[in-house]
Formats: sequence, C-alpha cells, structure tokens
Amino acid sequence: MSERLKGKRAVITGGGRGIGRAIALAYAKEGAQCVITSRQFEDLEATAAEAPPGSVLPIACDVSEGDSVDAMAAFVHQELGGADIVVNNAGIHAAGRFIDIKPETYSLLYEVNVVGVVRVSQAFLSGMIDRQRGSIVNIASTAGLFESPGQAPYNASKHGTVGLTRCMALELASSGVTCNAICPGFVDTPMLDGFADLVGAESEELRKQLAKRTPMGRILSPDEIANLAVYLGGDESSGMTGQTMAISNGMRMS
Ligand code: NAD
Repeated sequence: MSERLKGKRAVITGGGRGIGRAIALAYAKEGAQCVITSRQFEDLEATAAEAPPGSVLPIACDVSEGDSVDAMAAFVHQELGGADIVVNNAGIHAAGRFIDIKPETYSLLYEVNVVGVVRVSQAFLSGMIDRQRGSIVNIASTAGLFESPGQAPYNASKHGTVGLTRCMALELASSGVTCNAICPGFVDTPMLDGFADLVGAESEELRKQLAKRTPMGRILSPDEIANLAVYLGGDESSGMTGQTMAISNGMRMS
C-alpha cells in the first residue's frame, strides 16, 4: 500500500460493481476511508467485504431521488464527518436506433447521468469549500466526447456530464475544489452485459466486436479506470481541474 489517499474521505456512487467497485477497492488500498452507494445493497456489502475491515462502508442510495441522496449524505457526515473526494460513477446506459428510442429514455438517463452528479456533488460541496480543498471525479464516457452510433440518449447524457464537469470546475476553481471527468472507452463490467441484451447480442461476442473497434484491440479492465481515479482523487492532481481524460484503448486520439 502506498497510501496516496491516506486521511481522505471518499464517497463513490455506484460502488457495488464494475468501475465503482474497482475505484472503491483501489481507494481503500491507498488508505482512504470510503462510503459506497448504489441501489443494490447486496453488491455494496460484497464490495465492502473485499476491502480492509472498516475501510468501506455501504449505504443504499438512488442518485435520481433527492431524499435518498439527503439520507446518504447524512450517513456520510455522521460516519466520516464529510467527504474530501466525491466520485460520481453511478450511471445507466441505453441503446437502439434514434428513430425508435422514446423521449422518456432521454429523461431517465439525464436524471441519473447528469442530475445525479449535481445532487451528490451539492450534498458535499459546502464542506469542501469551507476547507478550501476537495476533489470531484465524474465518470463520463468517450460517448461524452464524440459520436457513439446507436446510443443517442447515452451520448447526449454523457456530453451533459462533460459540460457539467467543465462548468463546475470553473465555478469552483477559486475555492480550491477540483472537478475532472474520466471518459472510459469500453470497460469489462456488467454494463456491457446490459448493452448486449439491448442489442440482442451474446455478451462475449459483443465484447469481441467492441475490442475490434479500438486501435489496441481490447477492452479495458475496471482497474485501469480506478488507477486514474486514484490520481484525480489525490493531492498529486491538485493543480488539474476541468479536464476530460479519455482512457479508451486509443479510440479518437487527441
Ligand atoms: P455497471 O452497470 O456495472 O454499474 C453501474 C453502477 O451504478 C451499479 O452499481 C448501479 O447500481 C449504479 N447505479 C445505476 N443507477 C443508479 C442510481 N439511480 N442510483 C444509484 N446507483 C445507480 O456499470 P459500469 O460499467 O461500472 O459503469 C460505471 C460508470 O462508468 C457509469 O457512469 C458508466 O456510464 C460509465 N462508463 C462505463 C463504460 C463501460 O464500458 N462499462 C464505458 C464508459 C463509461
């Protein structure tokens, strides 16, 4: 353990599986005290059980509901006294042809992928501003940077996450609070199984097809995203804000 996050208190949404689980375990390994949240308490308990005892506390929370976020924030303040890092990772996906996808799907994704980020960030910001330090890490997507065929609502919502990140960073810059976005490409998580279901493909076959669309010819592991989240949550990145960083196996180089 290198303890790059020693003494930090972190809240990680969607922390029970996939990328959020990997971030929570990496944060705990680096010495952070974490609270993880998602809608599925069983997943959260399983992740907490993998971490050093007491380093990861689970609480159910739906980021699309204000009361639920308020209750989660009260738990964090009671258990940890506040948060130094907020990782807005909870997210949902949708796929299909633009002509077929109902407007309601856009509202659903916007509520979680954009307004959820707003709700959770606002719940912890006043403490960060008072302390003149803090890190907000938003998990966006390469779908927030460029076109992703057959995923219009997801693409629109993740462009929202990226735009929100930049606005938050600008407004918070003078308070010492940083806000950055990670934009993953294709990551090997349960979200890809849901993607396969949506497009009527077999999960492993979809993974192979997605890998072929990347210059590196593979999909990412959640740990590769967690490594950047550790950097953005810690003091090493204290001068960086408003950035959108793609980890995408070389898709669309900048
Ligand atoms: P996942 O589906 O495996 O996990 C998502 C997590 O978010 C789950 O724990 C789920 O319970 C939680 N969640 C969803 N809606 C929620 C809500 N309303 N309130 C609270 N929690 C909620 O997905 P993942 O691949 O680990 O995705 C994590 C993040 O990374 C998402 O924001 C996703 O859009 C983004 N992302 C994923 C990929 C990928 O290829 N897997 C690529 C780019 C970006």
